[in-house]
Amino acid sequence: MARGFEQNSTRVEALTAFGKTLARRSKSVCELCSAATSLHIYEVPPVDTPDVDKCLLICDTCQTQLDDPEHIDPNHWHGLNETIWSEVPAIQVVSWRLLQHLQSEGWAQDLLDQAYLDDPILAWAQQGAAHGTTGLKTFDSNGVELCEGDDVHLIKDLDVKGTSFTAKRGTLVKGIHLTDSPEYVEGRVNKVQIVLKTAFLKKAS
Ligand SMILES: [Zn+2]
Repeated sequence: MARGFEQNSTRVEALTAFGKTLARRSKSVCELCSAATSLHIYEVPPVDTPDVDKCLLICDTCQTQLDDPEHIDPNHWHGLNETIWSEVPAIQVVSWRLLQHLQSEGWAQDLLDQAYLDDPILAWAQQGAAHGTTGLKTFDSNGVELCEGDDVHLIKDLDVKGTSFTAKRGTLVKGIHLTDSPEYVEGRVNKVQIVLKTAFLKKAS
């Protein structure tokens, strides 16, 4: 118990010490949307030991949307067309993950198509996603969080591209895998591994 507290307070001290560096780098505005108020430090998941290069200075609005991507407001994120080109890897990573989440918006898909991330940065962006630790969680059609290995039911008949079968409504898909997009998971239907849109899934209880 005492030890946990110690580690925790060390972490807080480390993050506090990053404040100056981040304020200088960000020119004291939100590194995602340029707002100048309610700024605090966001650690880009997956988080291990505190590392200033894995931190962003962001505002409350951005933080709220990163915490609750289900209620993400596409209109808040048009600044991603600049941040995706940032020279700061952590900013690029979060921008890329947000764009993945906003893919249904034409402009976001266009940006993703144009965006260029160096291989290690892309791997970092995908790494978080593949393990469901993007800060962008995956949800089923009811807004229930989906985790790696969950079982789900289809809530709609789905034509499976590249095959002749239709996955019937109600089909149980066992042991889904999360993908780098919160809008899709992978699962086996009729012994075929397919990509499923989370909007058509319901977590099996
Ligand atoms: Zn912001």
